[in-house]
Amino acid sequence: MTLKHLSNEELHLSTITAVEREREATLTVLWHLRENERRLLFAERGHKDLKTYCVKELKLSEGSAWRRIAAVKLLKEIPETMEKFRSGQLSLTQICQAQSFFRQERPTLERKREILGAIENQGAKTERILCELGADAKVEPCRERPVKGGKVEVTLVLDEETLKQMGEIEIFLNKKLSKLELVKLMTAQTLERLKKPPRKRVQVATAKLPRATKPEAQSAIAAKAGATVGPRKPTRKISTVTIREIKARDNNQCQYKTSTGEQCEARLYLQTEHKTPWAKGGTHEHQNLELLCPNHNQWRALQQFGTQKMKLYQPRLE
Ligand SMILES: [Zn+2]
Repeated sequence: MTLKHLSNEELHLSTITAVEREREATLTVLWHLRENERRLLFAERGHKDLKTYCVKELKLSEGSAWRRIAAVKLLKEIPETMEKFRSGQLSLTQICQAQSFFRQERPTLERKREILGAIENQGAKTERILCELGADAKVEPCRERPVKGGKVEVTLVLDEETLKQMGEIEIFLNKKLSKLELVKLMTAQTLERLKKPPRKRVQVATAKLPRATKPEAQSAIAAKAGATVGPRKPTRKISTVTIREIKARDNNQCQYKTSTGEQCEARLYLQTEHKTPWAKGGTHEHQNLELLCPNHNQWRALQQFGTQKMKLYQPRLE
């Protein structure tokens, strides 16, 4: 391509058109990534997440992939961001900076829109603006404000120790949780414990009775003591011992393989899952269990139960 024949004015206008086309092309890429994520295509192709797909299959740099994925998330949440990007009011870098800020501060949707408005056309000043907004948010340690739908927006400032403990819960549960999910989990479990009636101790006169090993004998002893013992109901929960055995057997790696035999490389947040789902009669036998990363677990569920049903559990399928 040679541009030597263009006048200065023509070169300027032509550059503007080229940049507009570049933004339009980037938007097309974002739409493709969004649809890819919605149908978990990256997982089907053996990747643990969309970023790995972008780096390995699209040959994007890590930073470039990260910026595009941040933009895809924001596009889903606040679609008008697309127009602001198209017109050049917001760049991919700014969108990425805003997403990092939102992850830390967790503002409401309305607040996110305000923040995006504040950084429009601000380019290099974006980081400083976000820093100042972050400092403002930290003035009040706990703020409550009624919002639509009978809900209350609560802004909390947590200390390092609490955040560390929240991190420990995630490690124990082997999955990443949002702060809201963590608070819900802790509240539910505390309430459950508080509401539980104190356990009644059943006095069984074991001293004069022979040790009962068979269930019938156990029932007889319990009946004498006024209690009942029935066969244990099977539960979906896989025992800690079995989970440990499956982790060792599967070498602590996601077991998803593509049709060409490439295995997913994920080693974090792995879940022990049923190959034939528990809901479809699958058992806790070792051969019916395998380690999967969260995305491949979702992909598997999609194959097993179909999009319609899984839409109830996976908002990304909408
Ligand atoms: Zn995987």
